[in-house]
Amino acid sequence: MPDSLPRVVIVGGGFGGLAAAKALRKIDAHVTLIDRQNHHLFQPLLYQVATSVLSPGQIASPIREILGKQRNTMVILGDVTGVDADRRCVFVDSVDREGVAISYDYLIVATGASHSYFGHDEFERFAPGLKSLADAVAIRNRVLLAFEQAEAEEDPQRHGDLLTFVLVGAGPTGVEMAGALAILVRQALRSEFRRIDPTSARIILIDMGHRVLATFSEALSAAAKQRLEKLGVEVRLGHGVDRIDADGVIVDGERIASKTVIWTAGVAPSPAGAWLKAATDRAGRVRVQPDLTVTGHPEIFVIGDTVSLDQDGHPLPGVAQVAMQQGRYAGRLIDRRLRDKPAPPPFRYFDKGNMAVVGKGFAVLQSGRIAVSGLLAWMAWAAVHLEFLGQSSLRVSVFVQWVWMYLTGQRGARLIVNHHGSVTNTHVSASTEHQSVRTP
Ligand SMILES: Cc1cc2nc3c(=O)[nH]c(=O)nc-3n(C[C@H](O)[C@H](O)[C@H](O)COP(=O)(O)OP(=O)(O)OC[C@H]3O[C@@H](n4cnc5c(N)ncnc54)[C@H](O)[C@@H]3O)c2cc1C
Repeated sequence: MPDSLPRVVIVGGGFGGLAAAKALRKIDAHVTLIDRQNHHLFQPLLYQVATSVLSPGQIASPIREILGKQRNTMVILGDVTGVDADRRCVFVDSVDREGVAISYDYLIVATGASHSYFGHDEFERFAPGLKSLADAVAIRNRVLLAFEQAEAEEDPQRHGDLLTFVLVGAGPTGVEMAGALAILVRQALRSEFRRIDPTSARIILIDMGHRVLATFSEALSAAAKQRLEKLGVEVRLGHGVDRIDADGVIVDGERIASKTVIWTAGVAPSPAGAWLKAATDRAGRVRVQPDLTVTGHPEIFVIGDTVSLDQDGHPLPGVAQVAMQQGRYAGRLIDRRLRDKPAPPPFRYFDKGNMAVVGKGFAVLQSGRIAVSGLLAWMAWAAVHLEFLGQSSLRVSVFVQWVWMYLTGQRGARLIVNHHGSVTNTHVSASTEHQSVRTP
């Protein structure tokens, strides 16, 4: 392709960035997608990797492979560290080089979000969050190691805290994790240990709010809570955690001894606002114009979890559908500008509804006035998630795994994958691995 063609740079190959890249597949331009991971990750199923239902390769695909047939698009593995909006270039650290400038005529920033510990970053050491494949594998190790350590421990007094799992945050991730953990301990592990009884494990879900799944209707929240309790999950609402340390958590003055605490509460946007010196909301998400561009920079688009945009007086939620629809919109708008066509009307999100799974064969679904819970909602959830998985091969593999698990109760990937040799202490090793696998 001639060098004189315009250059479109997309930062981030998640839901938003990938949708933008696909929308640009036919334009006469050099499209460059930069991501610090080599894979597109289907985050909604991360909890299934963390609870040994699926293996990492079933929920992620190489971005290079997904866009392999798109002739106008180049993929670069690199970490974007900043943007010079005046010079129109982004700075990228790659495997062996730092600060490489890549210039653009149009820029789409789709860098997503990371964990937020609400000002308590010291919690991270003891309560890993779930955002990447490395996080999911680290949590899986931690959970499985807790059972192994308890089985090897002669003193029954020490089994209690090893077999107590605390999840902080009762949004969709916390609820889905708690339900899946309950099925893991009550069904999959039930008969495999001799010294300990896995079904005696405590799973505690904590939230400072007064409902689980607070973004769903009250009736669906109540149905989800009831289902969790039926699965043996202790749901504690109305108090946040005051402290998290190596011995567990303190909630409302009470210490809960636990060697496995998982953070499923807050998210913080990427530093895109600082890179662009753009206006942000209180959480740090970039405020954009109705056409998703940054004020004063019609050539810079920001989309997905790292953006703040109101619709009908309410902020759009940080969900995959918003990111994908915004990605498609930004791609189409650039395409039209390049072809001197009139701009489309401002971006408008079409809400197809929300779903969350609670254990086996039960989900809640809310779409407009429709609110359903139970098996039917779970089937809809399964169909939608299969449809949105990146590639056909993943769809087939995940479908087969789900059917197998549904029929036999057997999990797909109950492996402790220790990247650093032998393991002697659950807490130290799990947190070490968590940190080390996140560092490229
Ligand atoms: C555990 C979990 C469960 C979820 N469940 C659901 C669900 O059931 N339904 C739903 O709709 N949504 C769900 N979400 C939210 C959904 O995944 C996000 O809303 C969506 O991923 C946002 O898309 P995005 O493109 O903005 O960011 P992402 O999909 O997060 O993509 C961001 C990309 O940018 C890359 N990146 C970040 N910074 C840089 C940098 N400096 N340089 C280079 N690359 C960079 C990242 O590697 C990543 O690939 C879930 C999220 C999580 C964490």
